[in-house]
Amino acid sequence: MNNKVVIIGCGNVGISYAYALVNQKTYVHELALIDLNKERIEGEVMDLNHCLPYAPGKIDIHVGSYSDCRDASIVVIAAGANQKPGETRLDLINKNSAIFKDIIDNVMKSGFNGIFLVATNPLDIMTYITYKYSGLPASKVIGSGTSLDSARLRYLVGDKLGINPKNVHAYVIGEHGDSEFVPWDNAVIGLQKASDFLTKDDMNEIENNVRNAAYEIINKKGATYYGIGTTLVRITNAILGDENLIFSVSNYDKENDVYVGTPAILNKDGVKERIFISLNEEDTNKMINTISVIKENINKIS
Ligand code: NAD
Repeated sequence: MNNKVVIIGCGNVGISYAYALVNQKTYVHELALIDLNKERIEGEVMDLNHCLPYAPGKIDIHVGSYSDCRDASIVVIAAGANQKPGETRLDLINKNSAIFKDIIDNVMKSGFNGIFLVATNPLDIMTYITYKYSGLPASKVIGSGTSLDSARLRYLVGDKLGINPKNVHAYVIGEHGDSEFVPWDNAVIGLQKASDFLTKDDMNEIENNVRNAAYEIINKKGATYYGIGTTLVRITNAILGDENLIFSVSNYDKENDVYVGTPAILNKDGVKERIFISLNEEDTNKMINTISVIKENINKIS
């Protein structure tokens, strides 16, 4: 691994990720930015380079082209349309699946053999498309999945209880979208079940707030990007640092032939292993439902 990252699609999400990389301790040595709007990218590269004298590390940041993917460790895709107020993530399928074929073909033509990290919505479907079009092993194609949703969950639980969100061991799983859910029986805080701290009403309220967070932010400021930017940095560092970190990313479910958000172990090979999660009956049904929502939408494209 040469710790080179290429970002394809440097709008709100792509640039927030780049900015978060520059401002954090990271393993990334080289960062290449690709976007249809070349002039804006030249401006972004200048602006990001001006952070370096005060940044914690040194990164070679430059305007990229698809040939940069040849020796990249990770290609992050954040290209495509985002949700407009009132739009669901699934509404973006047709717009974004059309541009993905072109992008993946161009990346693979370069000789790329690293790890894809997908952020574009509808997330699980775009990650599946990337897997199919690239022909790479499933372990090397990862979507951000419910990792941002899990960050939102941990923040809200921590805020409610006055506990550091780092000590909230809880995940959102399933589709990165409206059918996602929190398996509360599996959530733990300080070795105690989350239900020892939260009432049923608290849990319902927090889960709804997580599910609706993107809609609320989009209504108020037009798009969401800081949360996903930092989340993508955490995933990047888990891969480049060979960390064996457990994270709820979108990963390949071979049995159902879908990508879906579940906890998985991340290291230099991408997804080293999916974690088997034992769910209660209600949550098992929610998992079956969320997988069928993803599957139905994949079928619409093909
Ligand atoms: P944006 O419109 O600000 O940026 C998209 C960028 O993609 C633009 O700069 C555009 O020029 C570029 N682009 C489009 N087609 C391209 C192509 N073929 N090649 C290269 N660049 C291309 O949108 P955004 O707010 O940055 O959102 C990007 C995506 O991320 C959306 O699908 C959005 O829904 C998604 N998103 C995901 C999460 C998550 O948790 N995974 C969170 C927020 C947003």
